[in-house]
Amino acid sequence: MEDKIEHAKELIEDAVRNYPRIAVACSFGKDSMVTVHLAKEVDPNIKVFSVMTQYHPRETFDYLKLMDKKMNLGITVYMVADSVPEALKDGSLEVRLLPTEEFNQEASQIETETGNRIYAINPDECCQLLKVEPTKVAVSSLDAWITGLRNTEGITRVDFKEIEEKGGLIKINPILTFTEAEIWRYIATRGIEPHPWYGKGYRSLGCAPCSNPGEEVERGGRWKGTSKCGGECGIHTQRLK
Ligand code: SF4
Repeated sequence: MEDKIEHAKELIEDAVRNYPRIAVACSFGKDSMVTVHLAKEVDPNIKVFSVMTQYHPRETFDYLKLMDKKMNLGITVYMVADSVPEALKDGSLEVRLLPTEEFNQEASQIETETGNRIYAINPDECCQLLKVEPTKVAVSSLDAWITGLRNTEGITRVDFKEIEEKGGLIKINPILTFTEAEIWRYIATRGIEPHPWYGKGYRSLGCAPCSNPGEEVERGGRWKGTSKCGGECGIHTQRLK
């Protein structure tokens, strides 16, 4: 595992050297916390951003605030919302609000037609508007971004590479070969406090309606019961620039 850690740091070091306009994406799941910890060890001033949605649980907002302070992340949050959620109102946090019209229109049309919520009927569209589009804004001024993708998380992540390029945007995946057990070992040995939902049996975290605990496959609880089960929100599969 020490070899993997050294290799991850080398990837980050090279990326920071080659791409001055770089940032780490952080969802505040376990893999993100390892990635930002490694990145901050390489470059304490590296930028960190997070895309949050109105459907993330209160615990994630509280955890974000806590870890932003503890790890000195200096995080910028991007969010489709009219106002900053109560839980994120904190003078130390930068929250960039993005327009809500398109999402509200889509969501209310689906609710009117089906009597159900957009994430249950069309999770792809929900993720597109609440996650992918805000991520495009977050990376618009970057040459490269660093993520916590891992090959063994699920079938959709097997083929990702450590360094990727789409539309001129470089993506670095420094912990790609870490196993789930290695992630937990890193977290334990570095004294990183994990998101409280891991104590409830969750193995992969996202928005509350689309995350479920107790699955045999690591990402099996994501979008459970939909055609998107165990899949991707789109930020790692689509061109963002
Ligand atoms: S994870 Fe679920 S609630 Fe969150 S943006 Fe995607 S479909 Fe919507």
